Amino acid sequence: MSNSQLSILSPKAQRPSVLNSQLSILNSQLSTHFDAWGVARIEPIEEEIVRLKEWIERGHHAEMQYMTRNVELRANPCELLPNAQSMIMVLMNYYPQEWQPNNLPQIAAYAYGNDYHHIVKSKLAQIAEEINSVIPHKYAVFCDSAPVMERAWAVRAGLGWIGRNGMLVNPKLGTFTFIGTLITTLKLEPNKPMLNRCGKCRKCIEACPTGAIYENKTIYARRCLSYQTIEKHGKIDEELVDLAKNTLYGCDKCQLACPWNRFAHPHNHPELKPIDGIFEIDWTTISRSEFNKRLKFSPMQRAGLKKIKERYSQIRPNT
Ligand code: SF4
Ligand code: SF4
Repeated sequence: MSNSQLSILSPKAQRPSVLNSQLSILNSQLSTHFDAWGVARIEPIEEEIVRLKEWIERGHHAEMQYMTRNVELRANPCELLPNAQSMIMVLMNYYPQEWQPNNLPQIAAYAYGNDYHHIVKSKLAQIAEEINSVIPHKYAVFCDSAPVMERAWAVRAGLGWIGRNGMLVNPKLGTFTFIGTLITTLKLEPNKPMLNRCGKCRKCIEACPTGAIYENKTIYARRCLSYQTIEKHGKIDEELVDLAKNTLYGCDKCQLACPWNRFAHPHNHPELKPIDGIFEIDWTTISRSEFNKRLKFSPMQRAGLKKIKERYSQIRPNT
């Protein structure tokens, strides 16, 4: 759990001590819904934007054209919420209570349950409204749903650092966390950013089956199985088929290799429990209507059944 405290800094705030004691009630709300949280002051994030532009210029984004749009918007959250002052960043642990057996077509752990975007955003909206009842503010909530550099803001909010595989690493939760963002016009006391603790470790680079992780936190999307099995249209590239083995949807290999996940613990969020029977689905025979019924709220809808079946047809059995 985070030791963060919501604390108002706005010079316009009247009765700051009274407000802060009222806001402190929300600390427990945040801690109930999320596993860690912190506050970042809104400021330019030039370094990350420069890196993003370089990544795009080198074509590392592959077919993900949406990454090339709104780059300047990503640099400035005030474009999303005028007069925004602070970002309340939250982490929701999704480390599974039970892992899928290795011999089955592998689904990334984040996709075991229902789509996290809605779950995280609705919790954040509830908290934002409760803050509103203490001190009026304008706000916006996001979870992978807007051009916000969530990992960069999570670092600024003291929630971890960005590892060599590009994932946020939290020293108590590891890497299996969803990141949510609550942008507010309130000027809140910020947390201190956390220093990078990867040290000389290169385990994620070594564990990546396709060599998609370059030095210096650069991921070449075209070689990454998460991109290949979710975002890319059609089958995965032929040259990666043997390396991908029984990876069906997404990939957790670089996360599983991260030594900080020895501190991870299974989540205790009932809403993240796996969809009934998801591990046993027969991807050869499942019909579209059954897929849409059983996986109606699954993140696997992003790729769609046609793409999943195409990928399944390439899987090397028992590997
Ligand atoms: S998600 Fe898989 S393929 Fe992509 S960088 Fe990590 S280990 Fe490599
Ligand atoms: S595996 Fe090692 S290098 Fe990669 S993110 Fe974890 S600590 Fe950092």
